[in-house]
Amino acid sequence: MTGRLIIASNRTASPGEPKVGGLAVAIWEALSERGGGVWFGWSGETLERETRGVRLFAEDNVDFALADLTEAEYEGYYLGYANRALWPVFHYRVDLAHFDETEFATYEEVNRRFGRLLAQFTRPDDTVWVHDYHFLLMGQEMRTSGWEGPMGFFLHIPFPAPEIFTSLPQHRRIARALCAFDLIGFQTERDRANFERYLVEIDQASSSSDGTISAFGRTLRTKAFPIGIDADEIVNLANSEEGRSAASRLGRIIDQRALVLGVDRMDYSKGLPQRMHAFGRMLDENEHIRGRVSFLQIAPPSREDVDTYQDLRIELDQVTGRINGDHGDLDWVPIRYLARGYPRGMLSGLYRLARVGLVTPLYDGMNLVAKEFVAAQDPEDPGTLVLSEFAGAAEQLQGAIFVNPHDIAATADAIQQGINMPLEERIERWKSMDAAVRAQSIAWWRRAFLDELESLGKPAPDTEVES
Ligand code: ADP
Repeated sequence: MTGRLIIASNRTASPGEPKVGGLAVAIWEALSERGGGVWFGWSGETLERETRGVRLFAEDNVDFALADLTEAEYEGYYLGYANRALWPVFHYRVDLAHFDETEFATYEEVNRRFGRLLAQFTRPDDTVWVHDYHFLLMGQEMRTSGWEGPMGFFLHIPFPAPEIFTSLPQHRRIARALCAFDLIGFQTERDRANFERYLVEIDQASSSSDGTISAFGRTLRTKAFPIGIDADEIVNLANSEEGRSAASRLGRIIDQRALVLGVDRMDYSKGLPQRMHAFGRMLDENEHIRGRVSFLQIAPPSREDVDTYQDLRIELDQVTGRINGDHGDLDWVPIRYLARGYPRGMLSGLYRLARVGLVTPLYDGMNLVAKEFVAAQDPEDPGTLVLSEFAGAAEQLQGAIFVNPHDIAATADAIQQGINMPLEERIERWKSMDAAVRAQSIAWWRRAFLDELESLGKPAPDTEVES
């Protein structure tokens, strides 16, 4: 393909600033590799009153096109429908979902406005790639605005089972809009199959074994593209001055104790209270481990404007205080809980120091922390990964100790197993996981998605074309 790549994501990287985070780097590299393109999204600014246009910036051969939100749009579209309805439902937390027609109307309006703006930038030979749950309706808006070219969508969060998805009052409207894309990429086969099952069972779509689905008068391809990381970058960070110094600072404090480490955004999907309880139970049941282990949980608060996130903070403060009060001693604090973020270099150093990585989300699209933890390990003396069977990463990281994070007793047992695992077994498990992380890297992910998108509509290589 020779045309430009046009990418839409809710948040973009700031023009002119270093691109931080796996996704931002992947998008930037996809655009640069292509020799130019447009990165379109929300500017991160909220204004009291509406502005209609976009602000344009150029960096190297990439154009940034950034649109502002009004305060009412930020409230209804971002905090409201995206994070109070879609996020909980897609993570199987219908109990936490808040369905509000006005918020949906704002979500729809932002998707419409952004879709129309984006359509103005497209040229006939471009390829469009839209990202994530903020923009589920954008494909249809683009088609309505006249865009007929190739257009793909990647969902970074899970796609729930149809029985859960249908709890959204607007499920049919969303599914129809998604079918305006030519390719929909999911994190896992589990998510892809859920989407297909929804279309076939609820909307009488027809599907074939290569992931092609015909629904709402369109034919589209669906496929799993598990997002990855740059493993060498994490190895370098873990060995950097910043990584080593973080590890030695913490190493001095925990002394010879085994480090159990959790690193997550503070989100109810991450299973943080359950994890704390499991750690407490492990201490209850393993007298010989008491005083010989230290659990560090790093969890910076996120989306603090949403009530359920404030409730989680209160719960975590209480659970941690309770376990430390019950189990701690004059010279030992069982759980160290830090409600703040750390630079990636420091995190990588801490991953490498840890004996056990505790990654136990109740549900997660992928979970990149699990992959970063694996990449950062010392090959001669790797730590063990305790991983939720409900994290997307579980499909690839078969060398982990798997747990159902709702099962506190089993998670407690897995932590104990991780702490006590013999070196030989640790190495064997780590090797298989490291190979998986390296095989499906972040560079693999973006290339695989774009290759698939751009191959659609072209005859397969062995197909004879009649003249
Ligand atoms: P999510 O996208 O739901 O937050 P992921 O595990 O897929 O979960 O990605 C989280 C990313 O954010 C990882 O790259 C991780 O290094 C980073 N991160 C997570 N927790 C922290 C933290 N406490 N401080 C700094 N970065 C963090």
